[in-house]
Amino acid sequence: MRKIDLTNFHVATSETARDINRRIVLNLIRSNEPLSRADLARHSGLQRSTVSVIIEQLIEQRWVTQGANGRAPRGRRPRFLHLNKERVRIIGINVRTDTTTVALADLDARFVAQESLPTAKTPEQFIADLVPRIQNLVKMSPDITCEGIGVSLPGRVDLASQRLVFAPNLGWRPFDLKTPLEEATGLPVELENAANACALAELWLGQYTQGVRNLVAVTVSEGIGAGLILNHQLIRGSNGLAGEFGHTTIVEDGLQCGCGNRGCWEVYASNSAAVRYYAGQDLRARNGRAKNGSDGSVPSFDDVLRLAEQNDPKAVESINTMAHYLGAGLALLVTGLAPDVIVLIGEVTRLWNRVGPIIEQVIRERSFTHAATRIVPTDPATQPRLRGTVPLVLQKHFGAPSVA
Ligand SMILES: [Zn+2]
Repeated sequence: MRKIDLTNFHVATSETARDINRRIVLNLIRSNEPLSRADLARHSGLQRSTVSVIIEQLIEQRWVTQGANGRAPRGRRPRFLHLNKERVRIIGINVRTDTTTVALADLDARFVAQESLPTAKTPEQFIADLVPRIQNLVKMSPDITCEGIGVSLPGRVDLASQRLVFAPNLGWRPFDLKTPLEEATGLPVELENAANACALAELWLGQYTQGVRNLVAVTVSEGIGAGLILNHQLIRGSNGLAGEFGHTTIVEDGLQCGCGNRGCWEVYASNSAAVRYYAGQDLRARNGRAKNGSDGSVPSFDDVLRLAEQNDPKAVESINTMAHYLGAGLALLVTGLAPDVIVLIGEVTRLWNRVGPIIEQVIRERSFTHAATRIVPTDPATQPRLRGTVPLVLQKHFGAPSVA
């Protein structure tokens, strides 16, 4: 049972019913196009006349277009309806500790233009770097409405203040990114943790979500984050901080983490961990983070991956150790949450043939409920963190409305 929140509820009006039906029809067209009005009435159980009213409205708002005539055994030939992919553009910004990507996407999260730049050391400089680039992207499609800006962040966003509040790997102080970006661009801005954004992208693009109600997206990069969707709902916890499994202790009295705690999961299973294993740094060192050096002293995670692909023994060992610890943390998620699917996002999935079996093995050994949960890698080439920015902006049109 979901309790009705008596401090924050919306009573149902005739507008509520119209809004729900409109979203159902819009999503049916998106998932099953091309469809006729008769198909929609059949799929939804709505009256033909109700469907027609909704479709007229969606055509007027340019969400839906009418295509060719379909075939019918007799009578009038139905017009096929399509989602209008040219209705909106979305600006997506994926912030990682070293690189930021800014891109222009269409409704299907296909990127029509993108650019990467080093991530600024301060949030003020970040805004200054981004604004002209956003303006250039918007100018690329002057005839198409830019619906907003979605930002995927390596940290958590406090829902009340919209401040980025927990980003130990980025090293920025708590900062309101939303207001200055909105003021400078005139576009609505949606901020979200990268793992949450990836989880929403899985719902939106639906590669593994057929019949899935409970999904966890785990981003493995400089740190580790988790986005939790339980019973079709993104879980935020108090202050939007839910999902910080990367900062739960996996090694008692372990290495120091950037968050202040010791022995955090991400200190042992992130890209930075693999680099440290490769560099052979003293495992009892006070700081768990290897310098991800452009100074040549320590290779990058990309170097370690490439060497492991070439069967360099030390690189293979480093990736195996990382995979072991990934499995250890994932086993906790499997046992504790019993999700239908855990989606893994990160460069390490390039070596899934090696990493996948180790992860599965550790989960089998540690979680007796493992059978129900599928562990699936995403293809880094699809840019899952960047794709995650698109549903942030579109959820206000396509997401389920909150009722009562
Ligand atoms: Zn930590």
